[in-house]
Amino acid sequence: MKIYLDNNATTRLDDDAFDAMIPFFKEEYGNAFSLHLFGRETGKAVAESRKVIADLLGVLPEEIIFTGSGTEGDNLAIRGVARAYKNRGKHIIVSSIEHPGVRNTCKDLEKEGFEITVLNVDKNGVVDLEQLKSAIKDETILISVMHANNETGVIQPIEEIGKIAKENKILFHVDAVQSMGKLEINPKEMGIDLLVFTAHKFYGPKGVGALYVRNGVRLGKVITGGGQERKLRPGTTNTPLIVGMAKALEKAYAEREEENKRVGELRDYFEEEISVRIPEIVINGKNVPRLPGTSSITFKYVEGESILLSLSMKGIAVSSGSACSSDELQASHVLLAMGIPAEFAHGTIRFSLGKYNTKEEIDYTIEAVVEIIGKLRMMSPLWNEFNR
Ligand SMILES: *Cc1c(COP(=O)(O)O)cnc(C)c1O
Repeated sequence: MKIYLDNNATTRLDDDAFDAMIPFFKEEYGNAFSLHLFGRETGKAVAESRKVIADLLGVLPEEIIFTGSGTEGDNLAIRGVARAYKNRGKHIIVSSIEHPGVRNTCKDLEKEGFEITVLNVDKNGVVDLEQLKSAIKDETILISVMHANNETGVIQPIEEIGKIAKENKILFHVDAVQSMGKLEINPKEMGIDLLVFTAHKFYGPKGVGALYVRNGVRLGKVITGGGQERKLRPGTTNTPLIVGMAKALEKAYAEREEENKRVGELRDYFEEEISVRIPEIVINGKNVPRLPGTSSITFKYVEGESILLSLSMKGIAVSSGSACSSDELQASHVLLAMGIPAEFAHGTIRFSLGKYNTKEEIDYTIEAVVEIIGKLRMMSPLWNEFNR
């Protein structure tokens, strides 16, 4: 048995998205920028894909810039704003729970003389709006807060932040990688100026993403080259992946309501069973709105890495802390920001469910988790101490 519960790290490609790409890997190979007949075919497919995505978001096709990943979109948005608006000010406000694509980009800008204010989150993992308001100053050019967190699934008050940004004439960047295809996103109504997403988190191919840039927002160049993507992302257009992303997003929107309900019920059932059968656990973000498929659970007095490896031996794939830092044994910055002590943060596992998961898989996983936590705790000095 192989069970994939790491859908926040990446997802399996949707069959229809795969089929839509095939012609563009084979006979339709023209450069979408070429004026000849080969280019016209692929150029048309790219334009159609751009329109499909723009329509789903309620924005204009010209406001969509194709990128190579979510990380690249975050870089282009933040560095692009920093370069274009640095004469107006060099202050950026960012939350403490961002993905490395945002976090490390801001750290890098700090070395270039930008001032970065990092916003706290409360114990539920929600950003502090009062702190945001008081952090704003004349030099603030950008606020960056993600829509839904990749580790906990906790959803941020994006509309309120959008209002605050607009009132203060500050640009607002949102990393919507985890929420795209799952939550309602309307950049125009939510006051979002820059929005980032990536196909492989919604059953599209890896290596393609997009950045929405509201008309009127200027971006400095991060990559220089030819004229593709309004000169902001030069390089030969990746037609097959763009076509695959549009198809995957179209499908995610069509299936969204039903899937959110189904996956949400599976997740709730999973958490209910785990809560009843295993003592001394904490479900992170349980009291606030979360993505339907994400379950972040702290198992006190055991090591997350041991749980992860034991589950893997039973065929179950999960993540401990942040997927992107799982090769380092550092406690997750997201969990620490929520005030979870480091020793408990280390015992946290993220189960992320997706559209291919079944009730049978969840039942098998529940039994495996109960057995593994029981065994690991019997060997844990901390657990034995706690129980004395
Ligand atoms: C996965 C992820 C990214 C990075 O996307 P890539 O396409 O893998 O670069 C950025 N932000 C969040 C919240 C993510 O979960």
